[in-house]
Formats: sequence, C-alpha cells, structure tokens
Amino acid sequence: MDLQSSIAELKGLGPKSAEKFHKINIYTIEDLLLYYPFRYEDFKSKSVFELADGEKAVITGTVVTPANVQYYGYKRNRLSFKMKQGETVINVSFFNQPYLQDKIAAGSQLAVFGKWQALKSAVTGIKILAEAADDMQPVYRLVQGITQNALVKAIKSAFSADAHKWLPENLPQVLLDKYRLLGRSQATAAMHFPKDLAQYRQALRRIKFEELFYFQMNLQLLKAADKAESSGIAVKYDEKRLEQKFAELPFSLTEAQKNSLSEILADMKSGRHMNRLLQGDVGSGKTVIASLAMYAAYTAGWQSALMVPTEILAEQHYESLSALFPDLSIAILTSGMKAAVKRTVLSAIASGSVNMVVGTHALIQEAVTYHRLGLVITDEQHRFGVRQRRLFREKGANPDVLMMTATPIPRTLAITAFGEMDVSTIDELPAGRKPVVTRWVKHSELDTVFSWIRSELKKAAQVYVISPLIEESESLDLKNAVALHEELSAYFAEDAKVALLHGRLKNDEKDSIMQDFKNKKIQILVSTTVIEVGVNVPDATIMLIMDADRFGLSQLHQLRGRVGRGDKQSYAILVANPKTDSGKERMQIMTQTNDGFLLAEADLKLRGAGEIFGTRQSGLPEFQVADIVEDFNILEEARRVAARIVSDENWRQDKRWASILPHLDQKDSFD
Ligand code: ADP
Ligand code: MG
Repeated sequence: MDLQSSIAELKGLGPKSAEKFHKINIYTIEDLLLYYPFRYEDFKSKSVFELADGEKAVITGTVVTPANVQYYGYKRNRLSFKMKQGETVINVSFFNQPYLQDKIAAGSQLAVFGKWQALKSAVTGIKILAEAADDMQPVYRLVQGITQNALVKAIKSAFSADAHKWLPENLPQVLLDKYRLLGRSQATAAMHFPKDLAQYRQALRRIKFEELFYFQMNLQLLKAADKAESSGIAVKYDEKRLEQKFAELPFSLTEAQKNSLSEILADMKSGRHMNRLLQGDVGSGKTVIASLAMYAAYTAGWQSALMVPTEILAEQHYESLSALFPDLSIAILTSGMKAAVKRTVLSAIASGSVNMVVGTHALIQEAVTYHRLGLVITDEQHRFGVRQRRLFREKGANPDVLMMTATPIPRTLAITAFGEMDVSTIDELPAGRKPVVTRWVKHSELDTVFSWIRSELKKAAQVYVISPLIEESESLDLKNAVALHEELSAYFAEDAKVALLHGRLKNDEKDSIMQDFKNKKIQILVSTTVIEVGVNVPDATIMLIMDADRFGLSQLHQLRGRVGRGDKQSYAILVANPKTDSGKERMQIMTQTNDGFLLAEADLKLRGAGEIFGTRQSGLPEFQVADIVEDFNILEEARRVAARIVSDENWRQDKRWASILPHLDQKDSFD
C-alpha cells in the first residue's frame, strides 16, 4: 500500500464505500490525506449560562433520572431524561436513538452535544460523547451519500496505517528552517486532528505557505520565461523622433507618466517579451502613454493595435490618435462596420500600409491579418478574458503586450491575479486637475439638489444621473431608470433635454445617445451603469448617483471618474439613506478621498476579492486554504523568496535547493 493506492485498500473500507468518495474526488490515499476540513467543532464543555438560545454546544452534567423511551408511531420515538449541571436541571431529549438508553445511568457523568433551548431549560441531543473533548473535531465538506462519520473513519484508518508519514516533504529544508514550519506529514495530521488551537495554527501556517509558495514559483517561472532574451521582439525605436513627439505635446508628462513610459520602452527595446499592466486612475493619462508606445513601435517599423471594449471608445481613441499623429495612417475596425469598408481596412492592415489600428473585439477575429504586429494594447483589460488576450497575442510573432486598467488593483490582487505580469503605475494626476467635490445627501434633500442642478444647467453644465442598481433584476433596473427618466424630463422640461441610456438598447442606439450627449444635444443623461467604462465628455461636470449605497466603492469611483475630465470644477452627489454600517462607511469614504488606490484597498477589506472582480472572470486563482487578502503577509514572503530562487542561475540549472541558501535574508519572515 502506498500513497497512490486506492482508498479501498484501507482497513474498514471496501470497494463499495470507496466508490462513494469518488464524488468528492477522493480516489487515492493521498487524495484522502489532502482533503482538509473546512472548519472544526469545538467540543469543550460549556456552562448553560454562557449559551444563547438555539446554540449548539457540548453540555456536561450528572444524570439524575434514568432514560425513558416513548414510542409514538412507526420507528419514531423519543428518549428523555434529566441531568444536572451545578444546580440547573436540564431536560434532555434524543429523537429516534433509543439504543442510547444503555449509556445513560443515573448518577453518572455525561457529555451531550446538542441544541440548547433556554426557555425550557432543555437540550435536544445530537450525540453523546465519551467525554467532553479538548481537541477540535474536524468538519469536512460533503456531498449527498457521504457522512462526516464515514469520512472521519476513513481518514483515521489512513492515519493508523501511518499513511501520512509517506507524504514526501515538498518544501526545501532551508525554507522549513528559515520559517520554522512544521514538516508536511506532521502538518497534515494536525490539519485533520489538531490537539489544540496552537497546533492547528502551526499546521495552517505551513499548508498556506506551501500553497502560496508553489503558486508564486509557477508565476515567477512564467515570468522568467518571458524575461529570457529573445523570447520576444526587440523594437528598435527612433529616440529622436520620439523626443520630438514629447516636445509637441500640449503639456509635459507627469513624473509617474515618465516612469511608466520608460519602463514600457525598456521592455519594448529589449529582446524580451513584454507582458505589462499599466494601471492608473481615470484621467491619470494612461492613454497618452499608450499612444506614445504605439508611436515608438511605428518608428521601428512595427504595426500596433489597441483593443477597447466598446465601439464608442474605439472611436474616441481613433480620434485622439489621429490628432496626435496626423502624419500616420491609422485605421479603425469594429464589427458594426459595413462589409465593403471593412474589406478595405482589412487589406490595408494586411499590406502594412496602416501603421496603427484601433478597434473592438473585431481585432482578434480570424479574418484579420497583421503586418509586423509588434505591440498590442488592451484598454480596460478585465473586460477581456484570458483567452481573448491570448488570441490577440497570437496574431503577431509574440508581440509585446500592454494592458491598461483604470480600476486600480490593490497590490494584493495585482501580484496574484496578474502576478506573471510586470506592473507600471501612474499614481499622480496631471497638475491643475481639480478633484471632484463629492457630497453625500439624503433622499429628503433631493429638492435642494435639483434646484442647484437647475442653476448649474444655466451655466451650460451637463449632468449624468445614475439610476439605482437592483441586484439580480435587470428588469427592475430598467423600470427604475425609465421612471427616473420620466420624472426628470418633467421636472427639467424647461431647462434641459433629458435622455435615457440602458443595457437593453442596441449598441448603435447607445452610441448615438452618447454622441448626442458629447455634442451637447442632451444635457441630462439618465443611465443604468452601462456608461461606466471610459467615455470622455469633458463638459459633463455633475454626477448624481441615486441609492449610491448599493454600489461598491470601486464602482462608485469609476462612475465619479466620468466627471472632472475638463478644467471646470466637477461634482459627484451621492444620494443614499444607507441602512447598514458598511453602507454608511462607504458613503463617508467616498466624500473623504479621490484616491482610487485607497478606495480599492478599502473595498477589498469591506467586500472581499471575489466581490470586486468575480473570481472566475478575473482569473483569480483559487486556493484550498490560503486567502489572498487575509494571508497577504505569507503571500508577500512567498513571492519574495520565489523570485530570489528563480533568479538564481545555479538553481535553474541543477534545481538543488541548497544553492538558494545564500539568497535568503535571515530577517525576512512572516507571522
Ligand atoms: P486615462 O486614459 O488614464 O483615463 P487620458 O490619457 O485619457 O487618461 O488623459 C485624460 C486627459 O488628460 C486627456 O485629455 C489628456 O490629453 C490629458 N492629459 C494626459 N496627460 C496629461 C498631462 N501630463 N498634463 C496635462 N494633461 C494631460
Ligand atoms: Mg482611458
């Protein structure tokens, strides 16, 4: 018998019962050992005075009456007796477990695990324990057909065969010593049956490190492969011409922009493959940096492509690129284009007469052939899945890749979700930008807000109004938006043209409404959250968000980023009567800061990672025991040490852990 043996070989388990475990993916003894509990039951005895009504606990006492069983129907019965804890008399009942009668003798001590009913001073028993236990009982995730007892029995059987001792240590001794980690078999045993909380914590610490360390090793190896010379293309751009372009800009770049651009250019120039995330708050000037990178590629004779999530964004970028580079041939490609136009564009891209291409998903469709595609950029990257990003990459000979995002990604997530990428951050806004003034008002103050908006409209302001988000009900969302639109149309009939934008509209309908708003044919735009992404309307200065407490911080910040894009003072008005503390807290934080990174960190703490990105869609890894937010310290240390190991040439050659010893800084550890 070894780790790879079927669990059917364990004592007490036959082929039939072994098969049941297949449902939870346990086939071998190793699978069984590595199936950790997700929580523990605390079987320490409690005083009934500490218990809340309905709480489940272990209650010990002295039996004062013999057990009596009453039958009342087919296979239905109730066993009852009284016991005393101190001076408190407790009525104990067990349903349909008449065989317990033998275990209950007047005068004996008993430990009952059950549900406390304070009013009746009664316990509905679940089981009788040999004694109140000091250790913690494992609770496993199960599916129908497998019981906790059966699983515990199987695991105990594996342990009594000493199977856990067969688990090879998979962490190098140098790391075990450095971080004072439990050995693997000891940790595994303690994960299932910890003696006490302290031992459980030690086991958990070791297993989490193991998980995060190997995760980081994989990322760092991927990264190292990208970093290898000649893994990509060397874009030999013309520095003189690029500098000339800088000089022509109507503004000078911020320090953060300069730093990001030189990181990008260094990647492009080298023969290594670039895989970089450019993150920065809305309006921090990412697009300019991306455009300059595209220009650099052009001066070296490479084509570049910029992919964005919507047609209107494609048009916006197309216009700004054309304005920035009037001498270049720039093409736009979207799926909505007329077939004949599209054909012309496609052949121009293929022949290389086009220097830069901007477009939507159409850019990665099969019909598109590029000519020396050297740089691809995606905007608002998490709208594109991993598969789409890869498709794009395969369109060229492994072109350099830059992804831009205006959703600041907390450091924690950046090194996990995008850990294989390098990150450049623009963490300052261009000088002279006026921060958006944010106010939180109650519904009762709407009258005042509306009459203020009326006076701002007279000064040519344009206004976004976001209708409340109704979770899980798109139709209610729409109903709300429609009602709000009617209300505001009536109220502002004399002052403004009010339009409605929502997700059920066709793309070209949405685009034409946005164009009208941009061209000032519309002054008030009522919308569901579909306008969240990237559209630039510099004269829109007011963002009114109804029931703002229904949105997360990151989303509110995104919405607020739609205003404050010009040189006029802009305002965000959050209308909310939050019922929860978290809702109030979010409203307050919004009025206190305009810093997207601070907000993203706060959001992560308040709502958790999955809520922000949606685990699946973001490609966030899932761990069995580690939590990337809670275990950030371990994750950081794992990253640090994995990066050092992978950067060691000796290790890469002989994979002998001993060679990493000199790289370990004794000071580094984690708690
Ligand atoms: P992002 O893509 O990060 O949202 P953009 O690149 O679209 O930001 O920049 C927003 C606006 O600020 C644009 O009108 C752009 O021309 C302008 N801008 C960018 N960088 C600077 C700068 N360093 N100084 C002044 N204005 C800038
Ligand atoms: Mg942008």
